[in-house]
Amino acid sequence: MLARLLNVAVLVCLLWSSGFVYLRHERNTMERMYLANQTTILDMAWQAVVKSHKTGMQVYFDTYIMQPEVLELLRAAQGGSESDQAVQRVRLYRYLYPIYQKLRERDVRQLHFHTPDSRSFLRFHSPNHFGDSLTGIRPSVVMANRDHKYIQGFETGRMLSGFRNVFPIIDSDEDLGSVEISQPFESLRREIWHLDKSNDFMLVYKASLLLPKLFEEQEKTYESSLFSQDWLVEDPRRELPDSPPKMSDTAQKIYAGLAESQSLLQALSQHQPQSITVKSQDGFYKVTIFPLEDVEGLTAAVLLSFSAAPEIDEMYWHYRLNLLVFSMMVLFVAIAILLFLQSKQTVVEKQRNIQLIANTMHDGLYVMNNKGIITFVNATASEILGYPRHELLGQEAHTLFHLQENSSSSLSECPIFNVLLTNTSYTGEEVFRRKDGSSFVAEVSSEPMFKKEKIVSAVTIFRDITKRKKMEEQLFHLCNVDPLTNAFNRRYFLQILETEVQKSKRYGTQFVLAMGDIDHFKRVNDTFGHEAGDRVLKEIVASIHERIRSVDIFARWGGEEFVLLLANTSLSVAVPLVENILANIRLLDFGEVGGVTISFGVTDHHQEDTIDILLNRADKLLYEAKGAGRNCIRASE
Ligand code: GH3
Ligand code: MG
Ligand code: MG
Repeated sequence: MLARLLNVAVLVCLLWSSGFVYLRHERNTMERMYLANQTTILDMAWQAVVKSHKTGMQVYFDTYIMQPEVLELLRAAQGGSESDQAVQRVRLYRYLYPIYQKLRERDVRQLHFHTPDSRSFLRFHSPNHFGDSLTGIRPSVVMANRDHKYIQGFETGRMLSGFRNVFPIIDSDEDLGSVEISQPFESLRREIWHLDKSNDFMLVYKASLLLPKLFEEQEKTYESSLFSQDWLVEDPRRELPDSPPKMSDTAQKIYAGLAESQSLLQALSQHQPQSITVKSQDGFYKVTIFPLEDVEGLTAAVLLSFSAAPEIDEMYWHYRLNLLVFSMMVLFVAIAILLFLQSKQTVVEKQRNIQLIANTMHDGLYVMNNKGIITFVNATASEILGYPRHELLGQEAHTLFHLQENSSSSLSECPIFNVLLTNTSYTGEEVFRRKDGSSFVAEVSSEPMFKKEKIVSAVTIFRDITKRKKMEEQLFHLCNVDPLTNAFNRRYFLQILETEVQKSKRYGTQFVLAMGDIDHFKRVNDTFGHEAGDRVLKEIVASIHERIRSVDIFARWGGEEFVLLLANTSLSVAVPLVENILANIRLLDFGEVGGVTISFGVTDHHQEDTIDILLNRADKLLYEAKGAGRNCIRASE
């Protein structure tokens, strides 16, 4: 049982674990798909914003920069002395200042002209800072000047970082340097926010790429992010005038939840857009990561978007519910298996006990099915019948060992099998035959057995009562038979007489009583001795037994007196029969004793007769026969 319990426990554990693994896998897959979906949606929005930004800047360049006046001023500045250049710078500043103002209203913060050798020529946002070399600091400028092609990309700068748009200025194959027209990152943020207002955005910078470029005074506007010192946040409290509005409470909570988040750091190291889940006490949030490559293809910054993810809450809730339901099911299955095992165990134990009881019984026991075939047999039955158990199982009891008076009697006539057909018990004596061919009287008791209220078999208990029968016979003999003559004794005769009188009263049956006495028997004794007398007595009884029917009762009434009860017999039939007895005795030769005769008084029973009256009448008639010379009968109604 313990081993079985262990097996069940292992099975249940396996079942539960496989369900658990499956449900978790399902939940994780759904979560991954959901996050991938989020990433795609936001990435598309972001790409659209970047694209429209680029288009806008191209329009500004074509419209405001590539005009003859601007090109003329730039041409004039080429190759001139520093003072010539200063004059052209001022002119350019003055000429474009109104346009710069207009562009500022459209969020353009950077309008920065560079010389063909990548030095700052004019910064509209800081006109007094110029002449510094941008080589090594602003690769976008160097690339635009060198390759004469438009460069767009994220780039950190000494003062401002963001999406750079650097346009080479080529007029009639003359290299006039380049110009940068850029909006701050905030305007892109605002654009994407307009597309999806459920998200808050934050820009983090790669410290190793940003710090070497910054003017010293700019460094203090950056702080390490909560998740890593490698990533910097600009103006985290959003205090500067150009900063984006403060993050929502939700976004701040999500950001706080990212402190030292390994999953975020891992996602950041993969350099591609993706979303991760952040769990806080009040639910799930998602963070989407957009790595922003600089013009050299390095991830210089990352745009993070924060939003609540009630869908993931729901997924987890469903997962937990499914897990609970599944666990309950497993529990029910476990209980069912245990109950089944327990009931099976009980059945096995019961069966074992029944077999034990059956096998320790001193009576034979067998069960037959509704076709009369033996399905169970106990040890005693096999011992009594002399068949090994396997030779009994599967056999038809009725034909194998049941002997009936009519040897050809069919199964349907068998009283034991009838128990099955009639739903009754049977108790009786039957003759069974052993394997060796010998037979015995069996006391049989059969009961039908049910399955779902239908009789399916019968159980039969039997015992060999041969010895008991013999003992009963001996006892009967002892009690009721005269030992000398072997005739019934007076006691038994009186019992039968009583029964016959009752029967006669109730059913009106008739019977005859004859009383006989050996003539001059005293003489036999006196002359030939008592032993000779005894022999005569025996022989006379034997002779009478030969003449009467088995249903007639002949008894020794006492001494040499006898009584004979002829059941269902009239006096007219009885008289010749008794005459015949007398005649037969007359013919007997008792050796030295010679012949002996007997006298009889014969009468039939009258309805009103008591036993005494009947006996007296017979006795009287006997006396009359004696008086009439003996060796005769006297009969009367
Ligand atoms: P009656 O013709 O008038 O009947 O004459 P009886 O001699 O037969 O008469 P009675 O009844 O006087 O004698 C019966 C005798 O039977 C007496 C007794 O010795 C004898 N007797 C009774 N029982 C037994 C017995 O068991 N064995 C022997 N040998 N004799 C018995
Ligand atoms: Mg007598
Ligand atoms: Mg006599």
